[in-house]
Amino acid sequence: MANKKYDVFVIGGGSAGQAVANSCANEGLKVAITEKREYGGTCPLRGCDPKKVLLASTEVLELATDMKGKGVLNIPEFSWKQMQKFKTSFTKPIPSGSIDNLKDNGVDIYEGNASFLTENTLSVGDKIIEASKIVIATGLKPIELPIDGAKYMKTSEDFLSLKKLPKSMVFVGGGYIGMEFAHIAARCGVKVTVIHSHEKPLDGFDPDLVDKLIAYSKELGIKFILDAKVDKVVKGKKKFKVHFNTDNSKAEHVKAKMVFNTAGRVPNIESLAVENGNVTEGKKGLAVNDYLQSTTNKSVYICGDVSDHGLPLTSMTGPESKTVIANIVNGNKTKIDTPVIPSVVYTLPNMASVGYSEEEAKKRYKNVIVNFDIATDWFNAGRINAPLYGFKIIINERTNEIVGAHIVGPHAGETINLFSMAIKMGMTTDDVKEVVFTYPSWSYDLNKML
Ligand SMILES: Cc1cc2nc3c(=O)[nH]c(=O)nc-3n(C[C@H](O)[C@H](O)[C@H](O)COP(=O)(O)OP(=O)(O)OC[C@H]3O[C@@H](n4cnc5c(N)ncnc54)[C@H](O)[C@@H]3O)c2cc1C
Repeated sequence: MANKKYDVFVIGGGSAGQAVANSCANEGLKVAITEKREYGGTCPLRGCDPKKVLLASTEVLELATDMKGKGVLNIPEFSWKQMQKFKTSFTKPIPSGSIDNLKDNGVDIYEGNASFLTENTLSVGDKIIEASKIVIATGLKPIELPIDGAKYMKTSEDFLSLKKLPKSMVFVGGGYIGMEFAHIAARCGVKVTVIHSHEKPLDGFDPDLVDKLIAYSKELGIKFILDAKVDKVVKGKKKFKVHFNTDNSKAEHVKAKMVFNTAGRVPNIESLAVENGNVTEGKKGLAVNDYLQSTTNKSVYICGDVSDHGLPLTSMTGPESKTVIANIVNGNKTKIDTPVIPSVVYTLPNMASVGYSEEEAKKRYKNVIVNFDIATDWFNAGRINAPLYGFKIIINERTNEIVGAHIVGPHAGETINLFSMAIKMGMTTDDVKEVVFTYPSWSYDLNKML
């Protein structure tokens, strides 16, 4: 017998889950939510936001370093302890603020792990809950590497709350999280090594621009070991030894004070007992149809990182939660419209991307124009003595529409949004050139990139 019955029960108090719970309650439905850790989830507590707060001090170091001898005499000192304290001033209020907001909207709050008992019932702590609709928004968690000594490896969450910086670090996995942390640490004087399993880090980003970013990262002191498979981590007296094999099957190792597992993230579903709820897994998350409904249990909707749809980014939680809300409130009428989603690697300089890659565009269109250039000598980069600025813009030659944009350089994470707008609106190069941008600004460079 259920202790409580709800119209909607949401599992996971991150960005996606909270959005669904608040909106459904505002629509007059009886809603509850549960969270097994702190309310707020990954983005504001142990992801995007704390990362960008720590990044802020390294932005000061970067600009001062580039401008040394051009007006700046000394590179400022930094304090990791203060950086962490400043970061905590952003993360600390999140859980209570989230709970207050949910309560204000009339959502019942649970704190505990939810597991499916049947298609419509869950256990949450010692309670049994029945709900007409259940929303799974449980996010991702770091992948567990099946290697000896994996227990010595720290996670992205550990990095973001490190009390003290060690002298050396190894990041196993050169995706965007590993690369961003490598840059933060290297700028703070840590000896950094990135080990990646493929030929280039940052899979999925433009390979030509990745090459430029890697060359610059090496100048920063970051060492790369590529095409390498880590097979064990051994605890030594003072350092850890990370053993790896490269393609030529030579067994080697690198030593460091700390080793981080940044090899990827997988669906956070191990304690959900999805099999009891008749919810099935897809390739990279829980399987959904176009309405973001479970393909096997019509009472269940799935959104955010844990769904098998779209990229695992905070910017995707908005369109996905809106779709789930609309379908719960009005019945299945709204299909997920996979929007143009830009992505950024917050290294310094940033690398950002939206739309098709050169390879994808060449497969999709008969003729494409590829504007690839290194623009370090352009005024914007020159003015701040930036060491790297480059772009690759992809245009469908027949229509002159912009179909892809890839930028490495200062503020690329901002400039890319103009390209997102242009691609979303189907703008041609002439359309963009008709827009007047401020001068001198990074946006103004769009004219020259086209
Ligand atoms: C280091 C890092 C940096 C990132 N940087 C960026 C960035 O710059 N830009 C960007 O767009 N994205 C970034 N992301 C990704 C972004 O954080 C996620 O896309 C976003 O937080 C996903 O939100 P969500 O609501 O789907 O999941 P989450 O925020 O992960 O929330 C899921 C919640 O569900 C809870 N939960 C899980 N299982 C259960 C259960 N059985 N019962 C109860 N509760 C449960 C979890 O505790 C968690 O709090 C970053 C991620 C990381 C790790």
